[in-house]
Amino acid sequence: MNEGIRKGLVIAAFGMLVVSNHVVYAKQASEVRVTEVTTQTVNAQPGSTEATTQTVNAQPGSTEATTQTVNAQPDSTEVMTTETATANQQIAQEKPGTPVVTGEYNRKKVQLTWEVVDKAQIYYIFKKNAEGKFIKIAETDQTCYKDKAVEKGNDYYYKVRAVYQGTDRLIKGNRSKVCKVAVDNIDPNKKMVALTFDDGPGKYTKTIVDCLKENDAKATFFVVGRSVNANPGAVRYAYKAGCEIGSHSYNHSNLANLSAKDVKKEMSDTDKLIKKITGSKATLMRPPYGSIGDITKKNVGKPMILWSIDTLDWKTRDTKKTIDAVMKNVKDGDIVLMHDIHEPTKDAALQIIPKLKKQGYQLVTVSELAKYRGYNLEKGVSYRTMYKKK
Ligand SMILES: [Zn+2]
Repeated sequence: MNEGIRKGLVIAAFGMLVVSNHVVYAKQASEVRVTEVTTQTVNAQPGSTEATTQTVNAQPGSTEATTQTVNAQPDSTEVMTTETATANQQIAQEKPGTPVVTGEYNRKKVQLTWEVVDKAQIYYIFKKNAEGKFIKIAETDQTCYKDKAVEKGNDYYYKVRAVYQGTDRLIKGNRSKVCKVAVDNIDPNKKMVALTFDDGPGKYTKTIVDCLKENDAKATFFVVGRSVNANPGAVRYAYKAGCEIGSHSYNHSNLANLSAKDVKKEMSDTDKLIKKITGSKATLMRPPYGSIGDITKKNVGKPMILWSIDTLDWKTRDTKKTIDAVMKNVKDGDIVLMHDIHEPTKDAALQIIPKLKKQGYQLVTVSELAKYRGYNLEKGVSYRTMYKKK
């Protein structure tokens, strides 16, 4: 028996089977929105021993996408067989378009959407796994996909590719650019505050991150490039814990005194190091000393994040004074300035973090604070607070 048919029968045992081009839709209900029923099917890869089963998002009467989750195949199995250059050229002309994918987290699901692309019959959905590989998780004939396999506090990455059935083979389009969706557990109606740590990474960074993790909290670390160079592990540790990594220049220079070229170099040198760790450049920066000139604004290339609570921790080097500076002044939407290179600050942070949580504050990154307070951060513009807009 043809393997495809055998597998089809396996599915048929659970529900109804409809065969349409290369898509198998198995549903428990009778409502199946597939109009074109043609020949055959072959989802199975040669040599595969696993049944292609699974999923149907659609409930009777539902308007949700009809999707089919397939057993994840590593990317490599998708490579087409050998072809001549001419054939490849022909395929390039025939290829379906490339989807532009956007995604958001809503009601416990990640919802991906894209516009119809040329020639597409179905779309393959890929999701980055723990090893950093994009694995195919589903196919759909819709222009949206809902992923319920997400947990709060994580980021997810997707790609989508359009596919159609050519005369003798599947024609696959290029994969979309990566679509990142952050699944956070922030309640926009509750108080939130952004703790920020400058001048690191240093030997206390990891301890502070551990405390954040224990308290389901996040912070933003504005790192100095040359220190990242010396201690990339601490930055990676913070990033993996969901903290935001911002730029604090490469040399902790007073940017207001630098030429356009030097400002750019301070930023790009630091970005290169951050990108190696996080996969992308820093979204935000904090000017050393809070010092900003006209040349800085024009050339810094990022929103400049200042602060509304200055703990003066670098000056007092006093744990209690640092704690008081925060706890006696904090309010919803504040941005707190501290420095993770000083031991008394580390000791203060270990108390401030649980104290704020106890008072009902959500400890969020600066980008999260901006998002939930509706601030559209612009390059070269400085921000001190992100209070609720009236
Ligand atoms: Zn600094």
